[in-house]
Amino acid sequence: MSDSPQDPPSTPPNPEEITRKLEDFIKNSLGGQVLFTKMEGPPGAGQVQEGGSEPPPEAEDRGKHFDFRYKPAEIKTHLDRFVIRQDEAKKVLATAVCDHYHHARMLEEHRKQGGSGRLEFSKQNVLIVGPTGVGKTYLVKHIAELIGVPFVKADATKFSETGYVGGDVDDLVRDLVAKANGDVAMAEHGIIYIDEIDKLASRGGPSGRDVSGRGVQTTLLKLMEETEVPLYAPNDMRSQMQMMFDTRKGRSGRETINTGNILFVVSGAFSGLDKLIEKRAKQGSIGFGAPAHQDESAGDTLRRSETKDFIDYGFEAEFVGRLPVRVVCDELSADDLFAIMKNSEGSLIRQYEREFAAYGIKVVFEDEALRRVSEVAEKEKTGARGLVTAWEKVLRDFKFELPSLGLPLLTVDAGLIDNPEAALDVCRQESASLHSDGRAEEVLSFAARFEDAHGLVLHFEPDAVHAILSRATHEGSNVTALCERLFKDFPFGLQLVARGSGQKSFVLGRDAVSDPDRFLSDMVVASYRGGQTPPPSSSPTPDPESHGA
Ligand code: ADP
Repeated sequence: MSDSPQDPPSTPPNPEEITRKLEDFIKNSLGGQVLFTKMEGPPGAGQVQEGGSEPPPEAEDRGKHFDFRYKPAEIKTHLDRFVIRQDEAKKVLATAVCDHYHHARMLEEHRKQGGSGRLEFSKQNVLIVGPTGVGKTYLVKHIAELIGVPFVKADATKFSETGYVGGDVDDLVRDLVAKANGDVAMAEHGIIYIDEIDKLASRGGPSGRDVSGRGVQTTLLKLMEETEVPLYAPNDMRSQMQMMFDTRKGRSGRETINTGNILFVVSGAFSGLDKLIEKRAKQGSIGFGAPAHQDESAGDTLRRSETKDFIDYGFEAEFVGRLPVRVVCDELSADDLFAIMKNSEGSLIRQYEREFAAYGIKVVFEDEALRRVSEVAEKEKTGARGLVTAWEKVLRDFKFELPSLGLPLLTVDAGLIDNPEAALDVCRQESASLHSDGRAEEVLSFAARFEDAHGLVLHFEPDAVHAILSRATHEGSNVTALCERLFKDFPFGLQLVARGSGQKSFVLGRDAVSDPDRFLSDMVVASYRGGQTPPPSSSPTPDPESHGA
C-alpha cells in the first residue's frame, strides 16, 4: 500500500484517488489473475478483464420505455383492495401519480420525436398529513407496486444537515437504483417517500427540532426540484467497488441520476398544526377564516390548512411550495380496524391463517373476536399497528405451542381474546385426551390420505375425532375402515362443492360424523346457493389460499 493507514487524509479522497487505491489493492491481493485496466474517462470505457471473456454491455437504459397508461380511478380501485378508508388520500394520490407519470411519458415521447426544451409542468410532489399507522406508507407502496416503479422509504428524523445516517441525502436516490436492480432509467421514475417530515420544522415551530432542519429542507428541495445525483457515492468505498463491478459488466453507461421525474411523497403527523390553523381562523387572517365547528374532527381541521400554516409551523416557503399536493389521512376507528382485518387483502388475519396452516392447523376467526381486538387496538392510538400488538399478545403462546399439540383446528372466539391462557389450557386438554387414544392418529392419517388422493383438506374437530372413536368402539370396528365407510361419498360431494365455490378445505364437526350424508348435502346446497353459511357447528371457511391477490 502506498499510503499509511495510520494517517488518514484530512479531506475525503476524490474518486480518482479511491480508484487508484482500489487498483493497488486489487493488484496486491489478486496478483495477475485479475487485471484492472481502466477506470478513468467516461464510464463504460473501463473494464476489468477476467480471462478475456467479457459479457456484452447491457442495454444502457432498460427503463427507457417507461409506458404509463393508468387512469386515476383504476389506481384507486386497486388501492381499495388493500387500504380501508382514506378515500380522499386515495383519489388525490392516484391523480397526482397519474399527472406525474403521464407527464414523464409525454416528455419522453416529445424527446423521441426530436422535440427540444421542456414541457411546462409543475411537479406533483405530495404532502400527506396524518397520524401514524393509518396507511400512508401502505398507500404509496401499493401504488409503486401497481405501476411497477421502484420505491424507497426514509425517515426524516435520520437526516442531519450533512447527511442521512452517516451517508448522504443523495443515497436515497441511489437506493432507488438498487431497488431497480441497477436500472438507472427505471430509478429515475421511482418514488421516494419520506416520513416524519414534520420533524424538520425549524424556527421553534411546535415540533421544531433545531435550525439544522432548515438545512435538510434545502438539501431535499434540490432533490425534489431537479438535480443530477452521482450514481456512485464519491466518498463511499462500497459504492466505488460497485462502480468497478458495473464497469466490468459493461453497465456503466451513466454517471448520474436525474431526479426530475422522481416523485416525492412526504408525510408527518404535524401535531400542533391544527392549533395554528384554528388560531389563524380565529384571527380571520388570510384565506378562508371560517371558525371551526365545535365538534370538528382533527382531520377536518387539518383539511383547512394553508401554505402559511406550514410556514408558521417551521417550514421554508420554498419547501412547502414544492409540495403542491396536500392531503389528510384520517385516524382509524375501531370499525375501520375491524374492516381492515375482515376485508383488506393484506389483512393480518390472512397472515395468521397462513402461519398456522403451515403446521396443518386451520384457524377460524369469529367476528366477535375481531371486534374485541379492534377495540383494544384502537386504544393504542397507533392506527393499524395496534392490531399487530394486540394480536401478538393474544396469539403469542398459541403460535408457540399449538403446532406441537396436534390439533387440526383453532377457533378464535371472544372468549379466547378475553382469556387466552384459559383457551390454551382447553387446547392442551383436548390434545392430551386425543393423544391418550392412539386411534386418533388413524383419523388424522385418513385425512392426510384423503388430501393426497383428492386435493381436499379435511379438518376434524376434536369433537368429531371423539365421535369417530366412540362409534368405532361401539361398533367394534377398525377406525380407518369406519372413516372410509362414513365418508365414502365425500370425494365426489366435496369435489362438487369445490367446483361450485372454490372451497378446498373443510372443517368436520361432530355432526359430520353422526350424519355424514346430511352434512354433505347441506354443504353442496350451500355452495350452489353461493356463499351461504353452512351448518353452524362445522362452519367451513374458505381456504386461506383462496383469499387475496
Ligand atoms: P403509516 O400511516 O404510519 O405510514 P402504514 O401505512 O405503514 O402506516 O401502516 C402500517 C400497516 O398497517 C400497514 O402495513 C398495513 O398493514 C396496516 N394499515 C394501516 N392503515 C391501513 C388501512 N387504512 N387499511 C388497511 N391496512 C392498513
